[in-house]
Amino acid sequence: SKKVGSDIEIAREAKMKPIREVAAKLGIKEEHLLPFGHTKAKISMDYVKSLKNQKDGKLILVTAINPTPAGEGKTTTTVGLGDGLNRIGKKAIICLREPSLGPCFGVKGGAAGGGYAQVVPMEDINLHFTGDFHAIGAAHNLLSALIDNHIYWGNELGFDTRRVSWRRVIDMNDRALRQITNSLGGVSNGFPREDGFDITVASEVMAIFCLSTDLADLTKRLGNIIVGYTRDKKPIYARDLKADGAMTVLLKDAIAPNLVQTLENNPAFIHGGPFANIAHGCNSVIATTTALKLADYVVTEAGFGADLGAEKFFDIKCRKAGLKPAAAVIVATIRALKMHGGVAKEDLGKENVAAVKKGGENLARHIENVKKFGVPAVVAINRFSADTDAELDAVRQLCAELGSEAIECNHWALGSEGTEKLAHAVVKLADGGSSNFKPLYPDEMPLWDKVRTIAQNLYGAQGIIADKAVRDRFAEFEKMGFGHYPVCMAKTQYSFSTDPNLKGAPSNHVVPIREIRLSAGAEFIVVVCGEIMTMPGLPRVPSANHIRLNDKLEVEGLF
Ligand code: ADP
Ligand code: MG
Repeated sequence: SKKVGSDIEIAREAKMKPIREVAAKLGIKEEHLLPFGHTKAKISMDYVKSLKNQKDGKLILVTAINPTPAGEGKTTTTVGLGDGLNRIGKKAIICLREPSLGPCFGVKGGAAGGGYAQVVPMEDINLHFTGDFHAIGAAHNLLSALIDNHIYWGNELGFDTRRVSWRRVIDMNDRALRQITNSLGGVSNGFPREDGFDITVASEVMAIFCLSTDLADLTKRLGNIIVGYTRDKKPIYARDLKADGAMTVLLKDAIAPNLVQTLENNPAFIHGGPFANIAHGCNSVIATTTALKLADYVVTEAGFGADLGAEKFFDIKCRKAGLKPAAAVIVATIRALKMHGGVAKEDLGKENVAAVKKGGENLARHIENVKKFGVPAVVAINRFSADTDAELDAVRQLCAELGSEAIECNHWALGSEGTEKLAHAVVKLADGGSSNFKPLYPDEMPLWDKVRTIAQNLYGAQGIIADKAVRDRFAEFEKMGFGHYPVCMAKTQYSFSTDPNLKGAPSNHVVPIREIRLSAGAEFIVVVCGEIMTMPGLPRVPSANHIRLNDKLEVEGLF
């Protein structure tokens, strides 16, 4: 087999088409494009609106088993499947999240796929792209500035400065900013108070941006953000500060979806990028609904494993946007299954069918879980070069016993040629009409029961527990009128439980709820189970140390 180069080496050799030609494939005329250079464009919102009465294509979710350090490749598989569908003659679009700068310079590297299944121009997509994150950060920080300015000029709304819940954001991993004291330096600088920064992708503005159906909905949701409380604990809204209008102005161009292409010149929308823990972790509703109007098949990715990513995609995004997914693809790798089966990272190179079978319990539960939403699923085994046929057979057999097909995929090494079989299987599932999508719980269910339903039905837990103070918050949010919101689970992505080291498919564990937070603009209740980091730090040796421009002014070191 030929040697596969690094992601950036492959991306650099891409024969990109002018973006107007990619748009033309979708029937979009040049006049509806807002080009950023020659290979990126936004689609005008007037054009997006004009598609309203077109028929919708079929929505396909790509999700995965619980991640391990061995890697799974959801984005790579999303791109590979999109190319595979185009290869077999289908009109297909990929929808992905925009990468955050923080992880690019930290440990994760880029987020534009890998090998021969990537979206390009990968350097641009991974770096400033079309400036959406800048706009989101600016809108967020405008609101922060308005709060302290309001307090400075007399605090007419009566902010209790100890209860300002709206923080500041920056698109960088910077632990020094997690907790700060602002307004130091004397009378003319305001009233000192504790504050802190989150990474931009953790901003509620990001979640709102991704769930809004149009600009009017965006404005309404921005106004609904709760920024703090008065001394008698009454909420103060962004609307009370008259912030929603100006915030919308800052976001009016960003809201239009971004079009780029895959290495095989197929269309991809990359738009919005909410965190997958304190938010729902999928690309914008506007990108997805626009793609559905333009293609017969839309392939999209949800962050983390299916216990978090797929659940939130179904229970938050699809419920709220009225989307009806036709099929799901669950990505697994032999390496990750071996780790779930107890193998250490150093020993992954050795064949171990028994460990694959044992770790298969993790995959099996995800298959059963996805079916609980009424969505048919197929398993994509993202093949790594060291995988053996006996190990692949073990996964195929395990899936067959559950009534699902597992398909070996070689898109990372071969591009679309490596996903033809998966593409045919997905078309068969999606066209078969067997999807009968329904969220896991109804809107009317009490918040506590929603969390319990998820924990028992999807995580295999015995139940949930919380201190009285936390249980009181559930009651408080219901009294405030937010009981009909979906819950947004924030727990470790590495396990069905709240213990990241508990691999496989643990049962009868208890899920402790540490805290709950209201995202009144995004319209969900964040349920925090364990440590949740909203401002990551950089590792001892960050990727930034290896990123540089070479003699040809090309970016090196971006994976
Ligand atoms: P996820 O979306 O699940 O976080 P990605 O698709 O971004 O994962 O892949 C993470 C990394 O793993 C990428 O750098 C990619 O090149 C690499 N990768 C993915 N699939 C394979 C494979 N089959 N063989 C080797 N490396 C792979
Ligand atoms: Mg990804």
